[in-house]
Amino acid sequence: MNDFKQSDLMIRATAADDTVRCMAAVTTRTVAEAVERHQTSNTVAAALGRTLTGTLLLGSSLKEFDRLTVQIAGDGDIGGITTEANAEGTVRGYVRNPAADVPLKANGKLDVSGIVGQGMFYVMRESGYDMGLYREPYRGSVPITSGEIAEDFAYYLTQSEQIPSAVMLGVLMRANDSGERYVEAAGGLMIQLMPGASDKTIREIEEAVSRTPHTTSMIREGATPVDLLRTALGGMEFEVMEERAVRFACPCSYERAVSLISSIDHAELESMLREDAGAAMTCHFCNETYRLNESALENILRERLAA
Ligand code: ZN
Repeated sequence: MNDFKQSDLMIRATAADDTVRCMAAVTTRTVAEAVERHQTSNTVAAALGRTLTGTLLLGSSLKEFDRLTVQIAGDGDIGGITTEANAEGTVRGYVRNPAADVPLKANGKLDVSGIVGQGMFYVMRESGYDMGLYREPYRGSVPITSGEIAEDFAYYLTQSEQIPSAVMLGVLMRANDSGERYVEAAGGLMIQLMPGASDKTIREIEEAVSRTPHTTSMIREGATPVDLLRTALGGMEFEVMEERAVRFACPCSYERAVSLISSIDHAELESMLREDAGAAMTCHFCNETYRLNESALENILRERLAA
């Protein structure tokens, strides 16, 4: 397991007699790790960072051995976004074209929808995948409705899972004095209305959410996930059910790269040894490259002959 840097924080809470479920997360370090690993443009940083955060929030109640995958398949220059979260609070993700970029919008904001394009938003929930108790995964999909990501998570929850939801996701990119870009703040929140939510509760939440500033402006001023919910729920009382450390992490490893390469057919393995004097594998999800030198490949071939 590649465990990168320090953790961020996510909370899960309920309000109004459990007719409102809400989650909030500060994901600045998680998004920074993704941006650094994939060397993304600013617009891709926002698109990927929002999707990573949304995936964590959507997966906030995952149980052990559960896995949630979000795939945004649009026709924009980003070429698609794939993210995956599990019950340990880890998330990983990638885009097809990390360097893709589009001009800022007229209002000076990053044009995330411009880089995502039109297409489909997919969610897959799997359980028991790591222990052979694999059950048929749950799959849901909706068309991309805005491409700004938060609206797409909200539309998916409302349409596909019949849970009316408000979703806010943000990534704030900055440049320091020497022009180096960095993630100054990232995070988001999700408010879900369960069956039985009263009209009064719905109205109160709608009003509070409409007054809520951008999540990133609150986070850069030091807001915690609890502070984010307090603002978005506008004074409504809530009870925190769970607090979970979250981070960008990927289960790939040199050993896994070796076992993958071991499964390659014999002739191809010999040609890698002869022509390239080794092999290199790059993990899509975290962009880590594993190099197998000549002797590692010879070992694989020898073990195969012995078997
Ligand atoms: Zn990886």
